[in-house]
Amino acid sequence: MQVEIINTGSELMLGRVLNTHQQWLCRRLADHGYPVSRQVAVPDTGPAIRDAVAEGLVRSDLVITTGGLGPTSDDITRDLVASMLGRPLHEDAEALANIQRFFTARNRAMPQRVAIQAQVPAGTTVLQNEHGTAPGLALQVAPGQFRDSTSLLIMLPGPPRELRPMFDRQALPLICERLPVADAFHCVTLKTCGIGESMVEERLAPSLPPLLERGLEIGYCARTGEVDVRLTAIGDSGVDLIREGEALVRAALGDHIFGTGDDSLEAVVLQLARERNATLSVAESCTGGYLANRITNVPGASAVLWGGWIVYDNAAKERQLGVDPATLAEHGAVSEHCARELAEGALARSGTTHSLAVTGIAGPSGGTPEKPVGTVFIALASVAKPTLLRRQLNPFDRETFKYVTSQQALEMLRCRLLTGK
Ligand code: ATP
Ligand code: MG
Repeated sequence: MQVEIINTGSELMLGRVLNTHQQWLCRRLADHGYPVSRQVAVPDTGPAIRDAVAEGLVRSDLVITTGGLGPTSDDITRDLVASMLGRPLHEDAEALANIQRFFTARNRAMPQRVAIQAQVPAGTTVLQNEHGTAPGLALQVAPGQFRDSTSLLIMLPGPPRELRPMFDRQALPLICERLPVADAFHCVTLKTCGIGESMVEERLAPSLPPLLERGLEIGYCARTGEVDVRLTAIGDSGVDLIREGEALVRAALGDHIFGTGDDSLEAVVLQLARERNATLSVAESCTGGYLANRITNVPGASAVLWGGWIVYDNAAKERQLGVDPATLAEHGAVSEHCARELAEGALARSGTTHSLAVTGIAGPSGGTPEKPVGTVFIALASVAKPTLLRRQLNPFDRETFKYVTSQQALEMLRCRLLTGK
């Protein structure tokens, strides 16, 4: 099955908007057995959209366009497609009622021009817009018009908060009904951290080939601070292949696997902490609250996170957490000694079972030969256990530096929670 996505929008070509539809739709489609074979982005000009849609309809069973369904003069997808397919436009009463409701509910007068969005090509399945005014449109393109067989053309609105629910609730069921997948598609993603991409591959190399011969596919995706291992298989034997593959990967990578699918490290760590009745405080210098931010993004974080300190200046480290001025004078704020005192100071003051502390040089200036930019010390202090210390080098831009450092800190805590060591 050939599936194609056409993202329209001059703002995409100008780099003003990140094309998140591409990723989101590819992911959703792949998860349901419709891996995308081609994706293009084109500006909002008639010839560009027309060529892309015509090419897509020659090649593909399913073509999805995004954007250009609105009421402004640059929204031309609907009209173009109607004329390309030779289908006159007519007003869809439900779409018009939906647009009127949208304005009434917001107590706003309805501009005359928005009614144009209720114009739909003949023979269209209208996908009503629950979060905006432009409906989506689905059309069956008959054999002979562009190629020998039928294609399904689906047009979705540009704003993500309109497109996503419309795709999930209306477009996807339609796709599954009109284009049933012959061979079921199975996929599992195992998420790892604390191990690099090449090492992951090296560890898996000896055991996987027999499964690969039977049709299992393996993919690696190195992200900042973590590596995904993706197993996919098609057909009835897919479930077994994936199960066997997952067992092999788990045996080879062990505790480096922290979760599956869309699990985040912070959510996994919080869950582990809850199961163990552990509580956490944080003392952050170079991450400036980023670690606490990630933790508090997880619902239910309050069961584990007590609170913390942002101790940026040396005086804050001394006054808030009792770091010894002699430590700072002798070893500097970016040192194992300081990290230890921060974590142990936080543990004593908070009464939590664990405290994480980070201190480092985010850069771009401030590095020395012994401690180059990117140097970080992370300490984990825990009740009745020796304090763990780790030195890392994360020579990235400041945002990435914070992310990777917080990832390493979370990983230290995860390991301690898992092993008790
Ligand atoms: P509208 O009624 O808002 O005009 P539309 O269907 O005409 O909707 P566009 O005008 O193409 O859609 O895009 C509207 C907004 O949606 C854009 O300004 C942009 O913020 C967002 N958007 C459009 N395409 C994408 C995309 N590919 N990825 C992420 N966001 C997008
Ligand atoms: Mg628009």
